[in-house]
Amino acid sequence: MKCLFVVADGAADRPCKELGGKTPFQAANTPNLDTLAADGVNGIMDVISPGVPPGSDTAHLALFGYNPCKYYTGRGTFEALGAGIELKEGDVAFRGNIAMIEKGIVKDRRAGRRDAKLFEKALKGIRIERVQGIKPVVKATVGHRFVLVLRGKNLSCGITDTDPHKTGVRIQKSKPLEKSEAAIRTAAAVNEFTEKALNVLKKHPANKNQKFKANAVLLRGAGIFKPMPSMKKKYGLRAAGVAKGALYLGVARAVGMKTIAPKKATGTVNENYESLARAALKALKNHDFVFVHVKGPDLAGHDGKPKEKVRVIEGIDGMMGKFMKLKNTLIVFTSDHSTPCSLKNHSGDPVPVMISGPGVRPDDVISFDEISAAKGGLNRITGLSLMPIVLDLMGKSKKYGA
Ligand code: ZN
Ligand code: ZN
Repeated sequence: MKCLFVVADGAADRPCKELGGKTPFQAANTPNLDTLAADGVNGIMDVISPGVPPGSDTAHLALFGYNPCKYYTGRGTFEALGAGIELKEGDVAFRGNIAMIEKGIVKDRRAGRRDAKLFEKALKGIRIERVQGIKPVVKATVGHRFVLVLRGKNLSCGITDTDPHKTGVRIQKSKPLEKSEAAIRTAAAVNEFTEKALNVLKKHPANKNQKFKANAVLLRGAGIFKPMPSMKKKYGLRAAGVAKGALYLGVARAVGMKTIAPKKATGTVNENYESLARAALKALKNHDFVFVHVKGPDLAGHDGKPKEKVRVIEGIDGMMGKFMKLKNTLIVFTSDHSTPCSLKNHSGDPVPVMISGPGVRPDDVISFDEISAAKGGLNRITGLSLMPIVLDLMGKSKKYGA
């Protein structure tokens, strides 16, 4: 038995005024999801715990059965893994932006969304000299973004961001959040890197005659890398992950999945569902567990656009249509968190979850949405309970006792 595990990022919502009091899932026309819900078992899920709004990173760890309290240190490590950087235990990774500052004040956090690749070589040339034994690794990712990894002994992610997260204020100095030598060293290295970046970017030829000068770097989301047991080791599953965003590819890589980023996939509200479905079907041929990540609904939620979210959900339903004839395959469909359009942010509302396939005991739910799912046979579970249920249905669970 195989498992197709689809996560519609941030798709769960609250009743929307623009949709006559319905949630986007309720308002959307979703014949495929409804068929799967009718054949399957449904419920609602507190991905972290009741009332806690999950980040996408911690949420995905929990969905894959990895306790984020144990494994999560910061988003940076997943971004770095997703960017294809080979991390070593103890590396501290950051998300970075190229930015525009004037007299130390942040004017544009994204330097007009200029391409960080133009400045990658210059940033790669920076050496840390004031702190011993730390080597920086830089990789430009998408648009204005890049990843910085500090490699060396005795590092810590217990430090503050240099990114002030808003414009019109000073670029911050990183400070240790704990009294350890490691945190002091790491903060000093971050500040040295930032200072040297200002110097090399100031004179960078790509900034000549540009309206938006990429003359600074902003760092955030420090995380320290601790290797995790792979899904193969933990569950005996050969796993693959189909996604576009670096964060999701990174989480997938962290749990030992083979990662697939389809070329034509966009990771936007205008997704190429065909390419995601094709990649998933191909991966199912030689994997036991295939995770598919769809980003669009979360973006529509953050933009506060319920009608757009309905359109995205209908697109996802079309993609699910390609999976209806799969044999011997458990289909799991859920969200990593709610992103209510009314909040334009993640909320602690539980998400609907559905499992359909051989051996599943169906309930009376016949439509896939937050309200219907609450009446289903899974009742209300936590994110960490999902994988054990999936493993049991796949015949991969171990008996407890004699
Ligand atoms: Zn998310
Ligand atoms: Zn989000």
